[in-house]
Amino acid sequence: MQKGMRVAVSFGKQQVQTGIVYRKHHNKPLHYDTKPILHIIDNMPVITEEQWQLFRFISGYYITPLGLVVKAALPGSFMLESETFLMINPKQNLDETQLSDDEYLIVEALQQQKLVSLKTLQKLFQNQKVYKIVHQLMKRGILHSLQEVKERYKPKTETYIQLSAEWQGENINNLFETLSEKAAKQREILLQFFSLQRQGRPVLKKKLLEKSGAGLSSLKALIEKGILFEMKTDIDRINFEQASENVKELSPVQQEVLDRLRNNFLQGKPQLLHGVTASGKTEIYIHLIREVIARNQQVLYLVPEIALTTQLVQRLTKIFGNEISVYHSKYSQQERREVWMNVLHKQDSAKIILAARSGIFLPFQDLGLIIVDEEHEQSYKQMNPAPRYQARDMAILMHKIYDCPVLLGSATPAVESYFNTRRNRYDLVKLVARFGDIKLPEIEIVDLKEALRKKRTKGNFSDRVLEAIDQTLQNKKQVIVFQNRRGYAPVAQCEDCGHVMDCPHCDVSLTLHKHQHKLKCHYCGYQIEAPVLCPVCGNPSIAYKGIGTEQIQNDLQLFFENAVVDRLDSDTTRGKNSFAHILSKFQNLETDILVGTQMLVKGLDFAHVGLVVVMNADQLLYYPDFRADERSFQMLMQVAGRAGRKKEQGKVLIQSFNPEHPVLQLLLKGDYEALYENQILQRKELFYPPYAKMINFQIKDKNLQKAIEASEWLQKSFSNNFEKVLGPSDALIPRIRNRYIKEILIKLSPGPELPQQKKKILRILNTFQNIAYFKSVQVIIDVDPY
Ligand code: ADP
Ligand code: ZN
Repeated sequence: MQKGMRVAVSFGKQQVQTGIVYRKHHNKPLHYDTKPILHIIDNMPVITEEQWQLFRFISGYYITPLGLVVKAALPGSFMLESETFLMINPKQNLDETQLSDDEYLIVEALQQQKLVSLKTLQKLFQNQKVYKIVHQLMKRGILHSLQEVKERYKPKTETYIQLSAEWQGENINNLFETLSEKAAKQREILLQFFSLQRQGRPVLKKKLLEKSGAGLSSLKALIEKGILFEMKTDIDRINFEQASENVKELSPVQQEVLDRLRNNFLQGKPQLLHGVTASGKTEIYIHLIREVIARNQQVLYLVPEIALTTQLVQRLTKIFGNEISVYHSKYSQQERREVWMNVLHKQDSAKIILAARSGIFLPFQDLGLIIVDEEHEQSYKQMNPAPRYQARDMAILMHKIYDCPVLLGSATPAVESYFNTRRNRYDLVKLVARFGDIKLPEIEIVDLKEALRKKRTKGNFSDRVLEAIDQTLQNKKQVIVFQNRRGYAPVAQCEDCGHVMDCPHCDVSLTLHKHQHKLKCHYCGYQIEAPVLCPVCGNPSIAYKGIGTEQIQNDLQLFFENAVVDRLDSDTTRGKNSFAHILSKFQNLETDILVGTQMLVKGLDFAHVGLVVVMNADQLLYYPDFRADERSFQMLMQVAGRAGRKKEQGKVLIQSFNPEHPVLQLLLKGDYEALYENQILQRKELFYPPYAKMINFQIKDKNLQKAIEASEWLQKSFSNNFEKVLGPSDALIPRIRNRYIKEILIKLSPGPELPQQKKKILRILNTFQNIAYFKSVQVIIDVDPY
């Protein structure tokens, strides 16, 4: 038995759980009895020494038990429990002769009962090895856990065409002779098939039909004759996609940047690539990746948003073929387990890992490069559940643990990252012009106050914006409309008595989802039919105020009848592939106007966007957070960056009631440096990061009085130990799911004494949790809460 192997341990009579060996020792615990290990599941560790280092650090830094870190890191189905239900994988062609006797018994039991818990199997067989056998069967794809099956995972498939086995290697002329003279279309299909085929691999059906100009019926005829057959495969696994493009030749400026990065890597510092939108950062990454995998090392390519993986995976496979794996939370546990194992065993398919933040947890064997794309993005921070880690910061740590280069890239770097270049902790490499010297988009602020005064608005749109959209559509270009809120209208209010429809469980108003005619709470999921009459005064005076993406989509459809208007937000993108679908429609020019939230802005590369509209910048600018200015600038700059990426300069219109706001003025100049200088001064004066470290505590309880008392208790204890303790105060939303939420914020000076201070905090929390009266109170710790 070795550290990092999984073992099955029994707790109580029928309780079996999977555990991970962390340390072997001979010290008998004083306060509890040890439990026997039933058996060892793995033949070799599934967690590497480097991973343990990372996990331990995360546990300490983010004040989270190591067990929780490991749990967050491993794909769920790694850790079976007694309550895990199992079933036979219906898709697996079961060859019973390949099963050992023990395996056969278990499979047989499952064939009869369909769904059996591990606990029951254990009872049934009284066999200590049940756990191990089940794991083996799962690994071979014969068994599934119910959890895995329940994940409504519908892989997006592509259909490929392949030559039937009996014709493989056969003389092609013979093949053609079997076709009658009249079957010209079928001949054409076969000809195209052979010209498209590479090294005997299947050919994409779409492409084959397109190239041959033949109809589906001709292809069907060939299939019926048993010459060709169809096969489906998951698009993200890209089994057959061959590298079909070479890396692009870099422009002299890009080449210079590449050389500098390569050189700087040797010095061992993290690199920050500050390159304006569409300057070719991704092309530079591609060159670096190529060099790393040529040395047979692995690459971790982090992106902030799952939506981005789809577009990137397509861009990268064209160059690297099937040496790429994708890893993120919308993948099923089974797929994640597969990727994990492929990384661990250094398979070719896992040379490049394109991942959202959880990619940092993978068991890399020989990591040669970490790229953190759009490094300023907030979504690198895990919000819930613990550990609430920041993947970009952890990438910097991995650079030390794995001793490998790390590259952060952004058009609008995080203030912290830029600060680190000023302090010489990172190198700064700049790329100031777009590729092909296309101008950055022209930004114009539209003054909503004035537009309203002069009656030049329709609904939420200024006439200026509507004209510009019209013009863009006439020029056969696409439009992106950015709105920071989903749903139809955030507030339903009675115009007679002023009653606002709000959630009974949370202190927020309900949002109208017009399509379903429902009012919903975005925090707890509570929903009701949208009322016609005010529930308080009974008058039919409910009016809807504020604007959401759905309303904008509807309005635009009214204004531009002939345009195809689509929407991308978390309501329209529930499934794993719905993102891909909406984006690919936009990419294929099937959509004219795309309305969306944040998801839209993160680094997507579209060629035909002529205009980007920001509906209301004020929602961003006046958000109560010390980062509001930084975030607004970043977001607006990124939104703007979606316009005019190829050939022509694009246009950006930003509606605001406060056109003179300093952030908007800096945005007009595209002056990131000025924004940074302004921000860093404020941060220093007001003692905010990077000059301060912040730890936030949320104290939650169903009983308001108890929540108040608990937060006051903690505030007092913290104040006795630390200088800067703020609060307790109400959370931004003071009640969610009927639980009252108070907040306390501790600010600390960064420095070597931080770990010590965190231990102090832990001690205080332990004392707190041992007070019987506070048993029900939940405390959530968030280190670096942003
Ligand atoms: P960024 O990552 O900085 O936003 P991209 O790498 O996406 O920029 O480049 C923007 C567009 O310009 C992409 O479509 C890309 O293919 C193209 N491009 C960038 N550099 C080159 C190059 N050297 N040769 C050809 N096309 C390029
Ligand atoms: Zn609610």
